[in-house]
Amino acid sequence: MNSLVQFRSKPAAPAHHQRPVKELVILSGKGGTGKTSLAASFAALATNAVLADCDVDAADLQLLVTPRILRREPFTGGDTANIDPSLCTGCGLCEDLCRFDAIYTNGPGDLAWAALRHIDPLACEGCSVCAWFCPTHAIQMNPVINGESFVSETRFGPMVHARLGAAQDNSGKLVSLVRTTARKLASEHRRELVLIDGSPGVGCPVIASVTGATQALIVTEPTPSGLHDLERVAELTAHFHVPTALCINKWDLNSSMSDLIESRALDRGMSLTGRVRYDRAATQAQIAVQSIVEYAHLGTADGIAADIRRVWQAITLLPALAAGNPQPQSHPPQCPSESSSHHQTDTPAARQHLPQRSASTAPLDSPEHLNPMVR
Ligand code: SF4
Ligand code: SF4
Repeated sequence: MNSLVQFRSKPAAPAHHQRPVKELVILSGKGGTGKTSLAASFAALATNAVLADCDVDAADLQLLVTPRILRREPFTGGDTANIDPSLCTGCGLCEDLCRFDAIYTNGPGDLAWAALRHIDPLACEGCSVCAWFCPTHAIQMNPVINGESFVSETRFGPMVHARLGAAQDNSGKLVSLVRTTARKLASEHRRELVLIDGSPGVGCPVIASVTGATQALIVTEPTPSGLHDLERVAELTAHFHVPTALCINKWDLNSSMSDLIESRALDRGMSLTGRVRYDRAATQAQIAVQSIVEYAHLGTADGIAADIRRVWQAITLLPALAAGNPQPQSHPPQCPSESSSHHQTDTPAARQHLPQRSASTAPLDSPEHLNPMVR
């Protein structure tokens, strides 16, 4: 995506004056932990960020920040096979070779029309094997539109987001596109932080969100599954040597489980950024199409908003973000062919890149910490 949409920000500085763009990626082991609600509040509290919604399979950050789309582009993540029936002799070689059972016939029988082959576009993985071996060159590979990407303006600043089409694949590639575009916007508009709302889980889109990020923040909730899923994501971030911090959402629903989760996180060398209480005001803020810290300015949700401000302050003090020491961005995000479960997070190499527990949890109630839009 060749950007360059104009936002209300200063013109780009000469390259030698620019500070490196840092990336904070917010993750969760599963959906429903409140990750996106917290991301929206962090967007309100950040003063110089570009937002990137990398949860392309369920892009719902936009529901809270109501972006105004400035530019949209189709996303092509791969090819799909198409058969020209006028060239197909019905030899069946392509059907024999397809490993994904994406090729089928018209029906049983020896008649020529019955032997014609067709492609199921939802099953085709675009490997091109059938096109390579078709003796009559009846098969062409054509690009398929998997979704759309957007550059938008929000009340918190620029935002890059995307939408994956129904039943479409290649979400990892789309996440990489969103991140690349967001970094480019941040660099051009002198914004030092890209705030990434990542996907839940540990799949391809998460890997594409994490690799090369400056800092990861895992949001979890105090349940056994929250602990289990946290450990899976922590193994992933450790594998990619991304410093990782923890925030427990709705911690007061099970305080002893919250203690256990924080203890496990410390054992893994993760930083603790604090806890956010359960408050129905979080849901009311969503209904009001506001982040929680914005909603608090209507006179409610003060307690949970104060929790979130404290967490945000602790995040800004994390060594990787405070020092401005981003990881190299050159390598493309890739899914490892094997499971990451056998990678240990306690190796010396992994610990070398992990910050220690953040010492400061001082209140952050002063208005200078708020985005001007929500003061
Ligand atoms: S290999 Fe080519 S000619 Fe043979 S069935 Fe497939 S499309 Fe038709
Ligand atoms: S491109 Fe690959 S997956 Fe698609 S129909 Fe051909 S052989 Fe099957």
